[in-house]
Amino acid sequence: MADRGFRVVVAGAGVAGLFMAETLKRAGIDFVVYEKAGEVGGTWRDNTFPGLFVDVLSRQYEFPFQPNYNWSRKYAPATEIWAYIKKVARDRGLTRFIRFNEAVAAARFTEGRWRIETAAGRTDIADVFICATGFLHKPLLPDIPGQGSFAGPSFHSSRWDHAVPYAGKRWGVIGSGASGVQITEALAWAGCDVTQFIRRAQWVHIRDNPHSTWRERLKLRLPGGYAREQRRLWQMINEGDAWRLYPGPQREAMEREYRSFLDYIRDPELKQKLTPDYNLGCTRIPKSDKNYYEAVQLPNAHIVKGQIERIEPDGVAMTDGTRIALDVLVYATGFDPHAYMRPMNVTGLNGTTIDEAWREKIYSYGGIALPGFPNLFMLYGPFGPVNNVPVPLGLDQEIGCIMRLIAEARAHGAAVAPTVAATERFLARLGAAFPGTVWVGGCKNWYTSDQPTPVLWPLPQSEHKAFFEQVPLEDFEFTAIGEAD
Ligand SMILES: Cc1cc2nc3c(=O)[nH]c(=O)nc-3n(C[C@H](O)[C@H](O)[C@H](O)COP(=O)(O)OP(=O)(O)OC[C@H]3O[C@@H](n4cnc5c(N)ncnc54)[C@H](O)[C@@H]3O)c2cc1C
Repeated sequence: MADRGFRVVVAGAGVAGLFMAETLKRAGIDFVVYEKAGEVGGTWRDNTFPGLFVDVLSRQYEFPFQPNYNWSRKYAPATEIWAYIKKVARDRGLTRFIRFNEAVAAARFTEGRWRIETAAGRTDIADVFICATGFLHKPLLPDIPGQGSFAGPSFHSSRWDHAVPYAGKRWGVIGSGASGVQITEALAWAGCDVTQFIRRAQWVHIRDNPHSTWRERLKLRLPGGYAREQRRLWQMINEGDAWRLYPGPQREAMEREYRSFLDYIRDPELKQKLTPDYNLGCTRIPKSDKNYYEAVQLPNAHIVKGQIERIEPDGVAMTDGTRIALDVLVYATGFDPHAYMRPMNVTGLNGTTIDEAWREKIYSYGGIALPGFPNLFMLYGPFGPVNNVPVPLGLDQEIGCIMRLIAEARAHGAAVAPTVAATERFLARLGAAFPGTVWVGGCKNWYTSDQPTPVLWPLPQSEHKAFFEQVPLEDFEFTAIGEAD
């Protein structure tokens, strides 16, 4: 039975918010989820562009409490991931806990509890406030002169306008990240005239994406089959990603493999344009299921490398004087990864706001908590993303730890936050791990932006698990509810 005396508010009903909701539901804790959109799914609801497939194995993008034996492919299309997430919400009875179309606008820690205000004008009071608002959620548009002047349809990749017909249009795609690569590839194979504007070439993983077979599906359903497969995937994650962390033969072999993908390009000039000038893995690697390098060699596909000077009503002008006439313009320009819960206005102890706390740099303890913000938790906050590890797996570990901290706080009749010293120790540990990893040295990536170090977890996945299983309580301070302001 739910404990009505203790209440949790969660913001966001993407993968993270739903995982949290299911965990709270099972624990019998009273909670509500506010979701600013009208449907669950976050990333997978918003990103509906052609060519989007999950970049980790479909089997790795599962909630541990809801196996899916029926993925159609090794790497499922985004539509299938979204359908799975919606099914989880439905099957688990989670939608009845969600207030849709209601964004959390502000949250303030006052008199030992969180006072939450929604954009709809509702005030809610919670003992614990959990932000599951996503780290790749707020679209980032480049600051290019003339942006508003484009006469045809133009939109960010996460706001795809499905009313625009593909055929007979000259498409422009700005951006060379994962979205830009997947969109260009899809439009090119669909026969559209497409120009991709890139400033820097990306390493691209040309991979096979076979349909799953009935044998594979059956194997999962055999006694012990699912658990055996999960163990195998876990081992793969731990072993397969070591090249990102340490220099050595595994990294060299990966670099050779990725260079060999570039051999698909027959034209030396195009090959030169698409050859990255920085180390492999420094940016998140776009995955290509239908051979991006072959796609961009189709007569209807064009790569323009350089700096865009301005956007004009009928196309794009480059700084070298080239002009490209376009009918549709897609901004595959990524997200503001350092926004986290903002623009929500979050205020902790002594009236300190999140903007003030993060004025000089973004930080957190374990990606889940912040000193001075008692009983506030984040899912995949700063330093949360674990190199290339599937998000549900990392969430499992974060949420397990948050639940233990909540239990401790309740047992103490207090609100819990990490100490400043423990947070500094955590940041120092991560900072010391970056040298030698692929994320430092020579490339500009969204993990870093203007931060002193990339804001991800640069240690093995196994250490992530160990960290969250063993966070010492001495790293936290407990503010008695009556003493908090
Ligand atoms: C194009 C793209 C492809 C990706 N592919 C992969 C992949 O292949 N593998 C992988 O592991 N990861 C991938 N990711 C990362 C992906 O974001 C995560 O896997 C995962 O979906 C994050 O879930 P989340 O719940 O933390 O955030 P989100 O999915 O961003 O969900 C956040 C939710 O919070 C809501 N929200 C935000 N602010 C408020 C507010 N103030 N009040 C109320 N609600 C709010 C949003 O509407 C949204 O529903 C991809 C990301 C993008 C953008």
